[in-house]
Amino acid sequence: MIASQVVNRGLRDRRVLAAMAWTPREWFLPPHLARSAYDDAPLPIGSGQTISQPYIVALMTASLAPRRRDRILEIGTGSGYQTAILARLAGTVFTVERLPDLLVEAEERFRRLRLTNIQTRLGDGAAGWSEEAPFDGILVTAAAPRVPDPLLAQLAPQGRLVIPLGDLASQELVIIQRSTQGFEQRSAGGVRFVPLISRLAFMEQSRS
Ligand code: SAH
Repeated sequence: MIASQVVNRGLRDRRVLAAMAWTPREWFLPPHLARSAYDDAPLPIGSGQTISQPYIVALMTASLAPRRRDRILEIGTGSGYQTAILARLAGTVFTVERLPDLLVEAEERFRRLRLTNIQTRLGDGAAGWSEEAPFDGILVTAAAPRVPDPLLAQLAPQGRLVIPLGDLASQELVIIQRSTQGFEQRSAGGVRFVPLISRLAFMEQSRS
């Protein structure tokens, strides 16, 4: 999977590739989908949500470029696969999910993998996690029409925010870096994510 889907598309960040090699993707899927775990595609994880395609997880992780002591905030725990990879690379990962069933399953996986540097929270991640701010990196794994203000406010100096921005059909993966002058923004290409459901992003009824 790593060679054919990630390295072949030009992504060679050694730390990211190693973190993916350590993380058994089949553990993050419902049992009947375990055989598809290494497919080059997103897959359903229940509650209408998806686990991202492996290449997209690699691209988002490399774009965030977490360092060993960083405090990272992730919005949209989902299966916990992306969280587990971040936990191998960073100091502490704070992850927020709005759907309780998904969060409970993800927490069980973190225990099984003995990932003790993950803190979880149930709620609207668009509000961030003010008690633990500032964060060296913030990764949003659901699509938003614009960057929720609280996330910009909770970004440390020199911190990076990675978020898919666009409409419900398609988005651009946007990387925002906080500098002394303000915020610099670049795009890492087109992506397709499930919506960030929040009064600060897409309202629930705007789905479908
Ligand atoms: N990173 C995940 C995939 C996430 S799919 C993985 O590797 O499996 C997007 C997730 O964002 C879904 O689980 C969805 O329930 C969650 N989500 C959507 N809106 C949210 C919000 N406002 N706050 C927190 N989580 C949200």
